[in-house]
Amino acid sequence: MATQNFKITAFSTALFSTWIFVEELGLLFDAGDGLSAGLMQKARKVKQVFLTHPDRDHLAGLLQFCQLNNRANLPHFYYPKDCKSFEYMQAFMARFDKHTAVSPWTGIEDGQAIRVKPNTTVQAIRNEHIPVPLGVHKSLSYLVQQHKRKLKPAFQSLNGQEIAGLAKEKGQDFISEQHSEKLIGISGDCPVRQFEHWDNTKLLIHEATFLEEQPGLNNKQNKHSTLTDVLQMASEINIEALLLKHFSSRYSAAQIKTAIRKQCRALKLEIPVYAILPGEIKRDACNSEPIN
Ligand SMILES: [Zn+2]
Repeated sequence: MATQNFKITAFSTALFSTWIFVEELGLLFDAGDGLSAGLMQKARKVKQVFLTHPDRDHLAGLLQFCQLNNRANLPHFYYPKDCKSFEYMQAFMARFDKHTAVSPWTGIEDGQAIRVKPNTTVQAIRNEHIPVPLGVHKSLSYLVQQHKRKLKPAFQSLNGQEIAGLAKEKGQDFISEQHSEKLIGISGDCPVRQFEHWDNTKLLIHEATFLEEQPGLNNKQNKHSTLTDVLQMASEINIEALLLKHFSSRYSAAQIKTAIRKQCRALKLEIPVYAILPGEIKRDACNSEPIN
């Protein structure tokens, strides 16, 4: 699946709201304020919702979204398993809008992979936004992967008949192996620390709250990324495209675009870099003009 095939509708501005919808996979990541008004009827296509962490800018759209869309076993909600906020929300909504209680909620942890389509999984990756001991899961990033069986290299010169014969005689595992492709990586709110998780991902959607490190800017307990760190990582790993989200509204669109262009030039980063700019709903994010 090529990057430009992902139809992504999203809003993401630090402090206010983040939600990202990947249409062909029926996946919604986070559920900030304005989600239902932004997606309208498209919200009906959401099959699974993956919540990254319980900050209010990532969950405040749940009430209306659930009221309009929850129905027998749909959508399925996943959240970091030690976040009580999501359990309180679910319990409140089950009383406030009783019909919403038909949708399942599942707490998940680092490494857990949820099958969302026969060949596609979403894997939870623990991140370091919220300082909690190892083994406690309050903030997650996610990795969407597609799994296929691939012919082992040793058999690639055989014709169809020979392959079928061998498969029949020795079994599928003898001639082919499982191959996983990383389609989309989505960081939660977090500092840049996870190069290895995102390497060889087609599309990385990463937060970039601040344009560059400045003394005092990122010294809150809950850590964020800088554009500088994200672009540096993107230049050191193999990805096909980068979609930046969660910019601080202290920056204008022009400041963000200028910073992206300048830093991409300095790093000689040539993959397309897209951005969800503050205050704007971005439609078909990966089919727009790259910023760089
Ligand atoms: Zn946030």
